[in-house]
Amino acid sequence: MTVKKTKVELFEPYPVGDLVVYVTGPDRGSVIEADCRWELSTTLTDCDCCTFRWRSRRDPSFKCRHMQALRQVLGVEA
Ligand SMILES: [Zn+2]
Repeated sequence: MTVKKTKVELFEPYPVGDLVVYVTGPDRGSVIEADCRWELSTTLTDCDCCTFRWRSRRDPSFKCRHMQALRQVLGVEA
């Protein structure tokens, strides 16, 4: 699998599935569920959501779908 090297604009909405990702920095973004107003602060290694908080305790390499969406937008290999 090759990594797409496209220029990502800051603060532009990028739809990924049912999520919308706003990139706010080189390794971070805000992820919004399309059917929800909740805005999550997500980085390549961390996420606000409950799923990540609980799952990452058992699996430090766990990546929730918000982190995966951010990685996809930033062109980082999962
Ligand atoms: Zn998450």
